[in-house]
Amino acid sequence: GKPAADMYPKKILEYMEGFLISKTVFSSCELGVFDVLLAAERPLSAEEISQAIGASLDGTERLLAACAGLQLLNTHRDNGQVCYSNTEQASVYLTRSSPVSLYQSIQYSSRTIYLCWHYLTDAVREGRNQYEKAFGVSSNDLFQALYRSDEEMVKFMQLMNSIWNICGKDVVTAFDLSPFKIICDLGGCSGALAKQCTSAYPECTVTIFDLPKVVCTSREHFVTEANQRITFHEGDFLKDPLPEADLYILARILHDWSDERCIELLTRVYNACKPGGAVLLVEALLHEDGSGPVTVQLYSLNMLVQTEGRERTAAQYAALLTAAGFTGTQHRLTGKIYDAVLGHKET
Ligand code: SAM
Repeated sequence: GKPAADMYPKKILEYMEGFLISKTVFSSCELGVFDVLLAAERPLSAEEISQAIGASLDGTERLLAACAGLQLLNTHRDNGQVCYSNTEQASVYLTRSSPVSLYQSIQYSSRTIYLCWHYLTDAVREGRNQYEKAFGVSSNDLFQALYRSDEEMVKFMQLMNSIWNICGKDVVTAFDLSPFKIICDLGGCSGALAKQCTSAYPECTVTIFDLPKVVCTSREHFVTEANQRITFHEGDFLKDPLPEADLYILARILHDWSDERCIELLTRVYNACKPGGAVLLVEALLHEDGSGPVTVQLYSLNMLVQTEGRERTAAQYAALLTAAGFTGTQHRLTGKIYDAVLGHKET
């Protein structure tokens, strides 16, 4: 028989077209639609935009109409001609030049994550990441696969960098970190979180610990000499001695690794940590019963497709910290994507 009216599969149909929306945003960014409109400082017609981005008129018209439908562009009607301008969100987050631009994250989603997700079914079946199928690179060494070329490494660093402009302050102020003067950001990458620490806590210094070629790029392109409270330390955090510190930050590190690897790393951190010191984990926390947030459930699938790890609950992180010797673990939810977990080393 006919399904009841309330059986209309609204959600399912929305989910089916979810990737159409993602790709519309990715392509509009890649073609520079939002940049052209920002530079013009007035609404432009489809013809003007198609010329500026070097694309077909027909294709551009359809793309602009979809962007307007998605509320990324405003439309202006003038004598039967439609013109377009950026909405405020598009102008702040989708233009390349904005200080809080998501452009680089979108590029990475479009060129890397999207390709890995093509093999999600295989990832679930096999229980492992899909670098070999997606990019033809061995995934024996995770970061060798992620950093398969210098260009890929820089793109990854830009991806890591961009989110902390949006929610970095929340994670570094979730706990009062002012008692900790010497901070080591393990896997500190481009230094975006280190910068958030030095601006929130005027008395601290931060050492960014990362792989040699990451440190080199971070020094050259991301952290200016002017920031004298940020220094660098090259090494492998699973093999080399860790610098002594009052506080170690591990932001989006443990979610890359198995429980076994996490305990190995946290034990090394515990041994290097000064008595009375602490470790701050910055991760997207799952609810204790795994029932949400849906973004984090999807991130955990992303970790399956792309890494050796998973997203975890606060209790799961507390168990890893306890196994490494840390005590008095607490967590704080920020209400944004990333949360904070703090564990202590007794005096
Ligand atoms: N903490 C940064 C953030 O949240 O934006 C970056 C997180 S990223 C997922 C993981 C970082 O760990 C990368 O910068 C990577 O280069 C670094 N890393 C991975 N393996 C490492 C190792 N064995 N030794 C030192 N750093 C490592």
